[in-house]
Amino acid sequence: MKPYLANFRFYEELNDFLGRDHYKQTIAYRFGGQPAIKDPIEVLGVPHSEVDLILVNNASVGFDYKLKDGDRVAVYPVFESLDISPVQRLRPKPLRNTAFIVDVNLGKLARGLRMLGFDAAYGNRLKDREIVDIATREKRIVLTRDRKLLFRKSITHGFWVRAVDADAQVREVLTRLDLYSQVKPLQRCMDCNGRIEPVAREQVWSRLEPLTRRYYSEFFRCSSCHKIYWSGSHVAHMTGVIRELLVR
Ligand SMILES: [Zn+2]
Repeated sequence: MKPYLANFRFYEELNDFLGRDHYKQTIAYRFGGQPAIKDPIEVLGVPHSEVDLILVNNASVGFDYKLKDGDRVAVYPVFESLDISPVQRLRPKPLRNTAFIVDVNLGKLARGLRMLGFDAAYGNRLKDREIVDIATREKRIVLTRDRKLLFRKSITHGFWVRAVDADAQVREVLTRLDLYSQVKPLQRCMDCNGRIEPVAREQVWSRLEPLTRRYYSEFFRCSSCHKIYWSGSHVAHMTGVIRELLVR
């Protein structure tokens, strides 16, 4: 029998990671030695990258805190819609560098986020290792349906996407990370994540179809792949899609 006992309570969506027996329950955790608190949290099934605040006996601690006999532990998720100020979060800047790296099978989510102006890197052939590297190097939030990926040590900010339908996924990310106020439609290229910038008609003239030349005067160009956008029917269509996505 392990000699020590600590009580863990996980809040809000972190319960999604726990087994049925532990869902929204106080968990009696037996242990020996002096494990860093990150270990029992992950042993219980919760990736550290989803955790933003740990309170031990009502004081906030870091992941390296050594668990002690009798500790009462409260663990809170990474997201902004829960007001946990003024207590200190685990990271000085929670995750508001709103840039994403989107896991391989979530291409439609990436396109949806780009349409709303978010920086969402995506490649359908990226290996887990590469996703972790990009997240670390470029300080991106990992969006994935694969919980295991979020256990990787070097990932600091991740979100396990629960929804299956792409539109529902976009809404889920906006809601959970409280991003509605940061939506800036039509600023990112949906194909490549580059920035879209206004461009003079003369600069793109040679690439336009005769009808486009005749009917449109305002043009935008992706600074990365050079795709041309104009305020025609497809912008109207996107505006409609965006309006749908933003219905709460
Ligand atoms: Zn582009």
